[in-house]
Amino acid sequence: MITCQVILKKNREKSIINRHPWIYSGAIQRMEGTPQNGDVVDVWDKNARFLARGVISLRSQIRVRILTWRHDEAINSDFWQRRVKRAIDGRAALAADPRTSAYRLIHAEADGLPGLIVDKYGPWLVAQFLSVAAERHKNAIIDALTEHTAPQGIYERSDTYTRELEGLVPVTGPLWGEIPPDRIEIEENSLRFLVDVKAGQKTGFFLDQRDSRRRIMPYVGGKEVLNTFSYSGGFSVYAAAANAGRIMNVDTSEAAHTLAEQNMWLNGFDERDDIYAVADAFELLRAYRDQRWTFDVIILDPPKFARSAKQVQSASRGYKDINLLAMKLLRPGGILATFSCSGAIDAGLFQKILFGAAVDAKRDVQILEHLHQGSDHPISLTFPESAYLKGFICRVW
Ligand code: SAH
Repeated sequence: MITCQVILKKNREKSIINRHPWIYSGAIQRMEGTPQNGDVVDVWDKNARFLARGVISLRSQIRVRILTWRHDEAINSDFWQRRVKRAIDGRAALAADPRTSAYRLIHAEADGLPGLIVDKYGPWLVAQFLSVAAERHKNAIIDALTEHTAPQGIYERSDTYTRELEGLVPVTGPLWGEIPPDRIEIEENSLRFLVDVKAGQKTGFFLDQRDSRRRIMPYVGGKEVLNTFSYSGGFSVYAAAANAGRIMNVDTSEAAHTLAEQNMWLNGFDERDDIYAVADAFELLRAYRDQRWTFDVIILDPPKFARSAKQVQSASRGYKDINLLAMKLLRPGGILATFSCSGAIDAGLFQKILFGAAVDAKRDVQILEHLHQGSDHPISLTFPESAYLKGFICRVW
């Protein structure tokens, strides 16, 4: 294999020395050779010092995704086998947990596999190949996955906007083995869920909220709960398991509510008088404020408002808006479980946004718990972007 050379501009090597895995196009002085999209390239500083080896993506602002900092580590099928195995080994504790059958197996850059997401739902794997690096090496990755996990089948859900940033078209469909059923049943902390891996959001389920769903349980017994952005009822099933009072689910997706109701029944919660509102959460919260409705517990788990640093300001306004409304709707001593999955908004900024909301709502708000993505979504110290999900359980007086 002929490897092309990428030479960085003066003073642009620092982040690579610090093992950040992205090289932006603007940091590149010149290239030697004419790399094709997805080729392996070596990265050098201007003094001809080897820095790292990665894959070039000619259409993306992130021009090179680094795979190794070792000059003697070749990018071949053994490499992909080692990285995939390392990720799987890192989940041994979850794999051994008989109460949970679904978790994230590969968390992209944070597992040394740029742009590759693999979620495990029982015997099925659902994969997202979101970078040219992952796409180009798809076959080697599939080989490694099948060898180390022996799945019943692998289904692809590479249908996200990030793939378009790499100049790749969206793809979904079976990749390997049998085709999964329309609904896969999984277990999470002994609760049961149906997952639609073919048409559901992301890969079908928000596995990153597993720990947080459990953490709300002590606060909801006998309480009236407003679960906004409820999707397939993750938080609601946990709340019902903790004997919550009436739960009001709010989501714009009717299909999500259908799954949420089925998930309630699946766990034996079929005699409840919960509500499933197909509505925009912003509008509904505003309407409730005007009607002076109140709740004991409110969960806010919206989709990503900020896709990039450019959107931080407008996203911050969105987060402030819903949190302010929620604080106003809570009875004194009520609980707000609030989240942001925008990587561009860190926990410090999110806390400041909540501060602004509390001041405007004229409520005393205490942080009781800090929440974050589960351990199957590890955070790489050298890739802080991997810390994307943050949340707080607050008491609102
Ligand atoms: N809490 C869920 C995951 C939420 S994902 C869980 O634990 O599984 C975000 C959800 O917000 C999606 O289901 C999406 O349909 C919904 N959504 C997006 N925009 C919305 C809006 N403006 N109002 C209400 N729901 C919205």
